[in-house]
Amino acid sequence: MSRFWSDQVAGLVPYTPGEQPKIADLLKLNTNENPYGPSPKALEAIRAAAGDSLRLYPDPESTALRQGIARRYGVKPEQVFVGNGSDEILAHVFHGLFLHSGRPLLMPDISYSFYRTYCRLYQVPYEIVPLANDFSIRVSDYTAPRAVAPAGIIFANPNAPTGMGLPLTDIEAIARANPDTPVVIDEAYIDFGGESAVSLLQRNDNLAVIHTFSKSRALAGMRVGFAMAAPEMIEGLVRIKDSFNSYPLDRLAQAAALAAIEDDAYFDATCAAVVRSREHLVQRLNDLGFEVLPSQANFIFARYPGMEGADLAAALRARHILVRHFALPRINQFLRITVGTESDCERLYTQLVQIIGAQ
Ligand SMILES: *Cc1c(COP(=O)(O)O)cnc(C)c1O
Repeated sequence: MSRFWSDQVAGLVPYTPGEQPKIADLLKLNTNENPYGPSPKALEAIRAAAGDSLRLYPDPESTALRQGIARRYGVKPEQVFVGNGSDEILAHVFHGLFLHSGRPLLMPDISYSFYRTYCRLYQVPYEIVPLANDFSIRVSDYTAPRAVAPAGIIFANPNAPTGMGLPLTDIEAIARANPDTPVVIDEAYIDFGGESAVSLLQRNDNLAVIHTFSKSRALAGMRVGFAMAAPEMIEGLVRIKDSFNSYPLDRLAQAAALAAIEDDAYFDATCAAVVRSREHLVQRLNDLGFEVLPSQANFIFARYPGMEGADLAAALRARHILVRHFALPRINQFLRITVGTESDCERLYTQLVQIIGAQ
């Protein structure tokens, strides 16, 4: 607390990111980073961009990158917004689309915790919609008629930290039932087995999807995310961006992301490898007695009946394996575990066998 803080700062509850400790031999399965590196073409593009031109400001509109993303997803460049990580885009969405006095934003009780952080930062009123008992999103909760239209609807698909996905028919039903409400689908993990709602944008001008280069494209360190929606919605985000920071993506980030989005072969191969390791890991953990929620992401959400999540996370940490535990109602017993390479999964499995055997 300082007398120099603004009236708002003392009341903020910042998001807590997964830790990035510097311990040798550490297996980091706590922040859903990609175990495979970025596309070699992205690294080449970064090296090529690291020259004298860095004295110049980058393209404020990231034109080439937006065109590349538009080509990849079959939309128009005016339908693409890029930001310094999808977290920044989410911030602009909360600020630019969800703030309507007297109308609450709807979101699940269990979802990406940054959503509540942004509600507090931008003072967006919100209403929590609990997931069903099996941790699925209950579509009828979002399609039932309401006295006032919600100011917005947001959730991750696949959801985080559950990993569970919602089919496109359900996404479209939610969008159709709320024609005057921006419905924002955070597709951070969509490339590991989900179906992107980008195909629904044509028919639903209230829908927006948000992607990141941090997970499936292994560029968390570059900070690049993008949103796709109808041009009018994108224009609202551009207005916010140009009132905040005109140059959110530096030259290296724009070059790396463009090369990565064009390297389909590397992308397909690495995503498929993660999915294979996930299926193998899920099967082995089930055999060990774990309950694992059905995952379409690059992480699994699992619990071992009879053992506290915090204790299991601590035991793994003592063995130099980091996973994520959320001390929150309903999910206190669960761990969110990033799917690594086959040998990462092997190391995790071996340690879990020992921890559980010692019980
Ligand atoms: C990782 C993650 C993000 C943030 O991604 P960045 O692009 O690295 O900011 C957003 N939403 C969800 C659900 C995530 O898991």
